[in-house]
Amino acid sequence: MKVTEHIAQAKDTLISFEILPPLKGKSIDSIYDHLDPLMEFKPSFINVTYHRSEHMFKKKADGSFEKVEIRKRPGTVGICAAIMNHYNIDAVPHLICGGFSREETENALIDLNFLGIDNVLVLRGDAPKNETFFEPDPNGHSFAIELLDQVAHMNNGVYLEDDLQGGVKTNFCIGVAGYPEKHFEAPNMQTDMSHLKKKVEQGADYIVTQMFFDNQKFFDFVARCREMGITVPIIPGLKPLTTRKQMTMLPRIFHVDIPTDLSTEIMKCKSDKDIEQVGTEWLIAQSKELKAFGVPVLHYYTLGKPKVIEKAVAAIV
Ligand code: FAD
Repeated sequence: MKVTEHIAQAKDTLISFEILPPLKGKSIDSIYDHLDPLMEFKPSFINVTYHRSEHMFKKKADGSFEKVEIRKRPGTVGICAAIMNHYNIDAVPHLICGGFSREETENALIDLNFLGIDNVLVLRGDAPKNETFFEPDPNGHSFAIELLDQVAHMNNGVYLEDDLQGGVKTNFCIGVAGYPEKHFEAPNMQTDMSHLKKKVEQGADYIVTQMFFDNQKFFDFVARCREMGITVPIIPGLKPLTTRKQMTMLPRIFHVDIPTDLSTEIMKCKSDKDIEQVGTEWLIAQSKELKAFGVPVLHYYTLGKPKVIEKAVAAIV
């Protein structure tokens, strides 16, 4: 079922989770172990992130270095199929521009369609680790909107080969990313918002936001979207802050602010357990306020902390 259908049929705020594929070599059981305790909350869908290959330098026996390409977390599509089969819940694969040619994207979409996957979250992706700027594949997409366009074309039965007539029309529900605190590369909020608006005009069915710790930023973002005529559902992405290191790491990597009240409370903590407690309480307060605001879905980034998410969701359902 499509994410938008879940939302349309819902009587209350829905719950959804996002997971990462396990590191290469681990079994699918690590995913089930992670998700099993969260299933009692009846998530409407589970997103599975996509991780491109990274270039690394491997030391050879003679002391010289060899540049190798390593994909640490493969398996997005397989995990989506496994989740649907194991839990009978919709899975939403993330699909990125980086590292994909248009042909590879088309083939991936054909696989997803054959697997009965109804949703995709289309993203540009970031530069691989150790590289500064995002570079598209020579025959790939530079921005999420181009990838979205390709999915929208396939939804109309239009494939890459001009002479392919009467191709099956896929029926993907398309999600895109939005940034309550602005995407870090955008020169200003207005420009970023106009790019978001174009994604919606080109066929995005809903928006999922980057994490944020200050709900006011989300409320302002929703107000801006609505003023600009963006009417699709906007799903807040939520992550708990549970370690002292995240106070600098999250702003550096995800370009989000940590509110003073939260950072002050964390600075006062004497142990990791105390920090986790503060982070959990903050997440519960954020979730309650967002629910009262009327968000369609509370979408939790569960990475490494399913127990904290469990506590937070238990407090609001
Ligand atoms: P875009 O919408 O293409 O925007 C990127 C930048 O380009 C923005 O600054 C935008 O303003 C600008 N822009 C957009 N269109 C144009 C245009 N036509 N001309 C000029 N500028 C333009 N990354 C992964 O690798 N794997 C994942 O699974 C993943 N999941 C994510 C899930 C969520 C909910 C979010 C919020 C992010 C996720 N990311 C993931 C990270 C994401 O790939 C990065 O944030 C990336 O830098 C931007 O992706 P985007 O889809 O927002 O890009």
